[in-house]
Amino acid sequence: MDIRYAISKGGNTMLEIQEILNDLCENNYATFANEYAEPDYDNPKTGILFCDWNDVAPEIQKTLEEAGYILEWYDEWVTCYECGRAIRTIPDSYSWLKSWAVVDCSFYCKDCILEDYGEEYIDEKMGRVDGAVMPWVDLSVYGFTLATDEYYGFNGGIHPQTMIETRIEMLQDKEWIFQIDWVAQFDVGYSLWIRPKEEEMI
Ligand SMILES: [Zn+2]
Repeated sequence: MDIRYAISKGGNTMLEIQEILNDLCENNYATFANEYAEPDYDNPKTGILFCDWNDVAPEIQKTLEEAGYILEWYDEWVTCYECGRAIRTIPDSYSWLKSWAVVDCSFYCKDCILEDYGEEYIDEKMGRVDGAVMPWVDLSVYGFTLATDEYYGFNGGIHPQTMIETRIEMLQDKEWIFQIDWVAQFDVGYSLWIRPKEEEMI
């Protein structure tokens, strides 16, 4: 979201903040979001600012934080193309999973994907060993049933490619898709979902 929105939102009675935001916008390419779409984040009083904070004086950062802004790094976040809320793109733990996806070259948060772009998201990941939907999609809503779940990684398990190769016959008349169930430091849990091919669906 354009930072000018942040200025119009909070700037009327706060001239100093307004000047700081103007400067950040013009010289530091800062951007703004009202809220987080990322799970487990508390929304700020005023807004979220994204910037390269290495280039911003500590006293300026303190002033912004005191005014209720949360400061985030510009290269760890994007904003949802539809709702404008903030989505984290860089993991912050070993178990972190994306709460967003790119559809038609734009970033969308999971809520907007589930609301408007579920089919497109699934289509893009279908029949791929190098792609999978995230666990926040209920694939049964789209006619899939769970075939099996597994894991793969440092501690063993089955590689998804092997999973497909050993089920060629069973998958012949099916559409199939992988879903990520969990991630850990050395392993990933996944499941294989199937549904009848479209021409065979009623
Ligand atoms: Zn959204």
